[in-house]
Amino acid sequence: MWKKSTFERISAHIDLLETEMVELQKSLVALPALSPKSGGEGEKARADFMKRLLEGWGLGVNEYRAPDREAQCGYRPSLVARLKGRTDRPTLWIMTHLDIVPPGPRELWAHDPYQAVVLDGKVYGRGTEDNQQEMVASAFAVKTMLDLDLVPNMDVCLMLVADEETGSELGVDWLLKSHELCRPEDLVIVPDAGNKTGTMLEIAEKSIAWVKFTTTGRQVHASVPQDGNNALRAGARLLVRLDELLHEKYADEDPLFSPPKSTMEPTRKTENVPNVNTIPGEDVFWFDCRMLPKHSLDDLLHDMNVAAAEIEFDYRVQVEIETGQMVQAPEPTPKNAPVVRMLGKAVKAVHGAEPFTKGIGGGTVAAFFRRRGIPAVVWNRSEGKAHNPNEFSVIANMVADSKVYAHVFGQDSG
Ligand SMILES: [Zn+2]
Repeated sequence: MWKKSTFERISAHIDLLETEMVELQKSLVALPALSPKSGGEGEKARADFMKRLLEGWGLGVNEYRAPDREAQCGYRPSLVARLKGRTDRPTLWIMTHLDIVPPGPRELWAHDPYQAVVLDGKVYGRGTEDNQQEMVASAFAVKTMLDLDLVPNMDVCLMLVADEETGSELGVDWLLKSHELCRPEDLVIVPDAGNKTGTMLEIAEKSIAWVKFTTTGRQVHASVPQDGNNALRAGARLLVRLDELLHEKYADEDPLFSPPKSTMEPTRKTENVPNVNTIPGEDVFWFDCRMLPKHSLDDLLHDMNVAAAEIEFDYRVQVEIETGQMVQAPEPTPKNAPVVRMLGKAVKAVHGAEPFTKGIGGGTVAAFFRRRGIPAVVWNRSEGKAHNPNEFSVIANMVADSKVYAHVFGQDSG
């Protein structure tokens, strides 16, 4: 742990760096990093810029290039910049993403989304909050160590990845698969979601299952139902049956999540016949299920198949079950994992409020670490403006979060 006077010095120095942090935000806004899938050129320009900057500060930076024929330069760059600490076991990783999402309709923006505007303590522009705020905050926490000649308790690695917004296949997923970078004893912070007070530490997620049910009967004129087989009626029975059965079976709760239960919702319903006087021969609907991580998606599918078989038998129809997105959630990061404890302590010291742990409805990038048995926490202080028109970052949030990182640097993981 830093001595009180040392941390006061760190805090004061970070306050002095505010102008430089805002300047970096401006430079990054002017270097949009859009995935080719979103119609952009990839992250090369921004990665080159960050690499030069971090090397200029005296950090060793490794670049990793995931081949991508769709990108203009032929690859998608990710960077790792390392600041040596007293030990490299554990190493603290702070993962932020280089890429942004498209700004959307220009008329919804008060200013050019690619030209930062500073107003009332906020920086406006695409990417300012998601994820530049934390990229800048973590980088300047590292710079503070260099400026003040301080050595963190552990190696600190800034991991700047590509392709987060379109699935991470050519970003962190590729990086962890093709390079032995992180170990289970390491500490991973993914500052890509949070709450306004910066007190929420997200450590778990639900599994996601998108399942499509196609019921096939026989189409006839509505006046002679006995000659056909109404797929809508059978499908509707199936929907109600699934709704009852699944909610009965998966009724348990975990207070880490809100809602605390698994959710199993019928959602999409496609049109069957365009007119009223035809009995439909086909019925299609979808379920979106968010399951507590302890449930296996195989079991869920098995239960769905049992319900479908009953309907097939009772209504003499065929039911086909197909899956869309199916993501089994990894084991949650333990509440008492060192990274949770350390980040919690820093949040309390800097933001002055009690931190709490939380699970969410699925699909965080931290899963790539958790799946490898590496505890990861998703956190930051945010206004929730990611992907919105007129996206902004509150400068005070960026400065305060920078102090949170610096606080963690001084802690003991043991
Ligand atoms: Zn993000």
